[in-house]
Amino acid sequence: MPTGNLFIVAAPSGAGKTSLVKELLAADAGIQLSISYTTRAPRPGEVNGQHYHFVSRETFTQMLERGDFLESAEVYGNFYGTSQPWIEASRKTGQDILLEIDWQGAAQVRKLMPEAISVFILPPSVEALRQRLTGRGQDAEEVIQRRVAAAREDCGHVGEFDYVIINDDFATALQDLLAVVRAQRLQIDAQLDRHSDLIASLT
Ligand code: 5GP
Repeated sequence: MPTGNLFIVAAPSGAGKTSLVKELLAADAGIQLSISYTTRAPRPGEVNGQHYHFVSRETFTQMLERGDFLESAEVYGNFYGTSQPWIEASRKTGQDILLEIDWQGAAQVRKLMPEAISVFILPPSVEALRQRLTGRGQDAEEVIQRRVAAAREDCGHVGEFDYVIINDDFATALQDLLAVVRAQRLQIDAQLDRHSDLIASLT
């Protein structure tokens, strides 16, 4: 059984990453999302074990000390981590795995697993980013400016990634993401493995 691909998708907030990943998972049954652990409180509608495993800081620290995380990072004052045993077990089944994590986590995973394929999603302009981060118009200008500045700082890490997708038109961005996944599956080593009988009969 060939090991599954490991995809990393990162983006500044406001780039539309979560919606793109959701549609990718709906369109492609061969990819499974890694459910992260976080110390952040659930937002309305978020379900424990489905969006995140919501844990206390104490539990998170214990897991970190036990070496349970493949990577972990502090993002906007909360801690996030990817389960190492889950990733290991899932990849052995041949399933492709997707990590929806921040650039700090992506850097850690890249070091440990250089074969990981990383994708960075960018908004089409600063103005679009600003609009997407303005929310429902209830936040103070200063708060919005801080969000935009933080997102632009995240954008500075774009050069560390294998692929970049500009999320201007959502449908196009989704096709781009699907294309990255499909192209990866067609790489020679995976195909030689998958179609060894066919290739042997033809060569
Ligand atoms: P949110 O709290 O809005 O769901 O996520 C905040 C940021 O943390 C996003 O950029 C998200 O991708 C990132 N994040 C979510 N889970 C993980 C994780 O397990 N590890 C890392 N490094 N970042 C994560």
